[in-house]
Amino acid sequence: MAPPGVAGYSPGGTEETPMTTAADASHLVPDAGTRAPDPRPVLSVVVPAYNEEDSLAPLHAEVSEVLDGIGEPWELIFVDDGSSDATVDRMFALADADPRVKVVKFVRNFGKSAAYMAGFAEVRGRIVVTLDADLQDDPNEIPRVLGRLRGEGWDMIVGWKQGRTGNEPHKALPSKVFNGLIAFMFGLRLHDSNCGFRVMRAEVAQSLDLYGDQYRFIPEFAHVKGYRVTEEGVNHRKRKFGRSKYGPKRFWTGLLDLITVRFITAFADRPLHFFGTFGLIPFVLGGLLETYVLLSKLFLGGTFQGHVGAIIIGVLLLIMGFQSVITGLIGEMLSAQQRARRFVVDTRREV
Ligand code: UDP
Ligand code: MG
Repeated sequence: MAPPGVAGYSPGGTEETPMTTAADASHLVPDAGTRAPDPRPVLSVVVPAYNEEDSLAPLHAEVSEVLDGIGEPWELIFVDDGSSDATVDRMFALADADPRVKVVKFVRNFGKSAAYMAGFAEVRGRIVVTLDADLQDDPNEIPRVLGRLRGEGWDMIVGWKQGRTGNEPHKALPSKVFNGLIAFMFGLRLHDSNCGFRVMRAEVAQSLDLYGDQYRFIPEFAHVKGYRVTEEGVNHRKRKFGRSKYGPKRFWTGLLDLITVRFITAFADRPLHFFGTFGLIPFVLGGLLETYVLLSKLFLGGTFQGHVGAIIIGVLLLIMGFQSVITGLIGEMLSAQQRARRFVVDTRREV
C-alpha cells in the first residue's frame, strides 16, 4: 500500500493501489479548495477620509453593489487621515467583514495629498478610482466613466460635478474663476479640476508625487506628463453627514498653489531658463549703464559725481541680475540631484 499522501508512488497502479493522479492530489495541499480565492483586483478604489464616520458604511455598501455589478475583482482602500472621530474604527470593522477592504491609518492629519499618496502606494489594480468619503461623489457613475476610459483610451477622466450650483451655490463662482485660470495656464480645459471623482490608469496615479494641497491639480500634473486627460459630467450629491473640511481660505491658497504648480511643472527640469532670463536682462542693463558712465568720464569729460544716480541704479541692476543667475544655477544643481524619472513611457499597445 502506498504511504498516504505520496502522489504517484505506484507508477503502474493495481487494483488495491490505484494510481494517484495530479487531479486528485489536491489533498496534499493543506486546506486546498477551502481557502478564499485572492484574485488580483482590477479596480482599486481609493478613498481619503477625515472625520467621516457616518459615511463609510453606506459608501462601502454602494461601492460594493456597483463594482460587483461590473463583475471584475476590486479592492477598496480607505485612508484615515488622522480622524478624531470613529472613522478608523468603522474602517477596520468594514475591513474585518470584507477582505476586499484595506485600511491605511495616519498617526495625525497629513492632508488629502498625503492620503492619496498613501492610498496609491497600496493599489494593486490596473485602474484607480478616487472618491471622496462624504458620499458626495456617486459610485453609480463608475461603470459609465470606466467604460469611456477603456473604450476611448483615456489615461484619466475627471468628474465634472453636475447639480453643484444647487448643492453648494457659494462655491460656484470662485470655482468658475479658478478653473478658468487653471485652464488658461495649463492648456487643459476642465470645468472641475478638483473633483474628487476620478478614474485613471494605475500608472498615472503612481506617477504622481503630491504634497501640500497639490491634490487639486492631479489632472494638470497628468496632462503635463503627457497623459490623456478629459472630463465627464457626474452626479453630485449634497453632504449628508459631517461637514466640509475646507473654508474660503482655499481660494487664496489655491491661487498660490496654482503659481507653484505651474512653475514646478514648467521649470523643475530647467530652472536656469527661468531665473537666467530674469537675471540676464537687468545684468545687461546694469552693465550698459556703468559702461556709459565710464565712457562719459573717460572721453566726454563727465564726472562720477554727476552720475551718482546712474551708478547706483546700474550697480543694483548688476547685483539683481547676478543673484538671479546664481539662483538659477543652484536650481540646476538641485535638479541634477533629482533621481525621479523625467519621462513617461507609453505602455499601451494601441497607440
Ligand atoms: N479629507 C482628507 N483630509 C483632509 C481634509 C479632507 O482626507 O485633511 C477628505 C474628506 O474626508 C473628504 C474629501 O477629502 O473625503 C473631500 O473633503 P470635503 O468634502 O471636506 O471637501 P469639499 O467637498 O467641501 O470640497
Ligand atoms: Mg465634499
